[in-house]
Amino acid sequence: MKILLNESELQTGVEKLAQQIADTYRENPLTIVGVMTGSVVLLADTIRKLSMPLRVGVVQAASYEGDRRGDLKINAELMPDISKRAVLLIDDIFDTGHTLEKVVGLMKSFSPSSIRSAVLLKKTGRQEVQYTPDFIAFDIPDEFVVGYGLDFNDEYRNLPYLAALEESDLAKHRN
Ligand code: 5GP
Ligand code: MG
Repeated sequence: MKILLNESELQTGVEKLAQQIADTYRENPLTIVGVMTGSVVLLADTIRKLSMPLRVGVVQAASYEGDRRGDLKINAELMPDISKRAVLLIDDIFDTGHTLEKVVGLMKSFSPSSIRSAVLLKKTGRQEVQYTPDFIAFDIPDEFVVGYGLDFNDEYRNLPYLAALEESDLAKHRN
């Protein structure tokens, strides 16, 4: 594994992300919706850096099996009522953009007063949609990354750093 962002680099980036969010919403109430499961660490770190009145909910979006993409499934059953609320979606990574674009579309159907999105990572040159997240902590090269919430086959989410999987790591999972 190759470390792309260490713990202190991640914290600096998340600090800046939270500052931008705070500058945008000021003291206005906010509902933060984490896209599970990849955003779990970013969600926990970000909300503790914000001081406006805050509600937290989650929505689940899953499209990967290992490092292969399957159909996108969205489960909004655990989401709080967001009608007439200012909503900020938080996700781990903006790759092609299809996931976040679809989740934003679904959120809009619940009539929030506003909807924005924040992501930890944006993969350079991969986007296939017009939509762009409002807040982005880091741009990274086009590599499959794990750690700080991001998984491979549901492993590695607990790594405190962000690492790119190398061919030798992937080979271990093929048997
Ligand atoms: P998109 O729909 O933007 O192509 O993909 C977004 C979702 O795919 C992310 O929320 C994340 O779950 C997953 N994903 C995309 N790239 C990576 C990656 O490099 N590593 C991991 N672990 N997940 C990724
Ligand atoms: Mg995800």
